[in-house]
Amino acid sequence: MTSAKSGDSTTPLFDRDVSLASLTSWHVGGKADFLAQPKTVDELRAALSWFNSRSIPLTILGGGTNVLVSDRGVRGAVIALGKMSGVAVEERAKRLHVTCLAGTPKSELLRVFLKYRLEPALFLAGLPGDIGGGVAMNAGVGEMIKPREFNEITDWIDVFRMGAPGEGTIHLDHIQAEDLRWGYRHSEGWQPGVIVRVGLSWPLEPVDDVLVRVKHANQARLSKQPLDQPNCGSVFVNPPGHKAGKLIQDCGLKGFSLGGAQVSEKHANFIVNSGGATADAIDSVIKHVQRTVLEKTGIELHTEVIYLGDW
Ligand SMILES: Cc1cc2nc3c(=O)[nH]c(=O)nc-3n(C[C@H](O)[C@H](O)[C@H](O)COP(=O)(O)OP(=O)(O)OC[C@H]3O[C@@H](n4cnc5c(N)ncnc54)[C@H](O)[C@@H]3O)c2cc1C
Repeated sequence: MTSAKSGDSTTPLFDRDVSLASLTSWHVGGKADFLAQPKTVDELRAALSWFNSRSIPLTILGGGTNVLVSDRGVRGAVIALGKMSGVAVEERAKRLHVTCLAGTPKSELLRVFLKYRLEPALFLAGLPGDIGGGVAMNAGVGEMIKPREFNEITDWIDVFRMGAPGEGTIHLDHIQAEDLRWGYRHSEGWQPGVIVRVGLSWPLEPVDDVLVRVKHANQARLSKQPLDQPNCGSVFVNPPGHKAGKLIQDCGLKGFSLGGAQVSEKHANFIVNSGGATADAIDSVIKHVQRTVLEKTGIELHTEVIYLGDW
């Protein structure tokens, strides 16, 4: 562990040559040259400034539930935000306002909306990962419920922007949600940067059966998704007019397996680590699925999962 000065206290800043596998939901991936896991915004700022002043490239990890980290690892520094967690709640102007640090688990936000019996609890039910990752990916569900994606509940974000490599300068930008561009499983307008804090709100209009519906949503996930094996959720985005899972299933790929990476028998858009898989094995299964679906249907599948590191 190496330390750097942050304010008056000496703050642990990073570790070297750390495996990232335990920080990803697939449990695969090589080492980061540097790994920082800040617990506070000040620690994050200190880490970003330290790496930026030395021109060390940065990679951001939230809950690690939507990334495939290379077996050859990540050059430069990985900043994992999972320990930078905290929620503040305020009732104002007939709305519930929630401010979350980026590393707050989505399950914490779900608990807040459930306590107030508000509808955002429904799409958050069973969504893994952190709030920052939820905004970066515009995470959500396909069902026709409202709200169903992060863009519908997000008011603003705070983003750290770094100076040019070598400068070590960091400044905080406050960006309104309407100034971002939100799409299907991505958001734009904050890059390059690190989402630090997210402000969300929803009308204070309680719905009586919200708890029952959240329980049903969780049961549906349990019955349809291979949650007992390491996975990354849906690997491919749905092509316009199609469901990726259905296309993969119809091509006879359920159960297809290479080196411990397997197209789930339960949900064809999931690839599970059935034991001892490497990132390369998962990537080979991804490529095989893409090739086969293209050959058989003429439809190109694009990954929702983000590749990180040396590919
Ligand atoms: C079992 C399972 C079910 C899932 N179901 C769904 C679902 O129904 N709907 C859905 O949308 N997704 C689903 N996912 C995918 C995943 O949970 C979401 O995309 C989630 O929002 C990713 O959040 P994360 O914190 O894990 O991000 P990560 O996987 O850590 O990161 C994803 C991307 O966001 C970037 N990022 C993360 N945090 C920040 C930050 N603070 N600042 C800047 N960049 C950042 C990373 O660099 C990376 O590019 C599922 C995953 C699993 C394992």
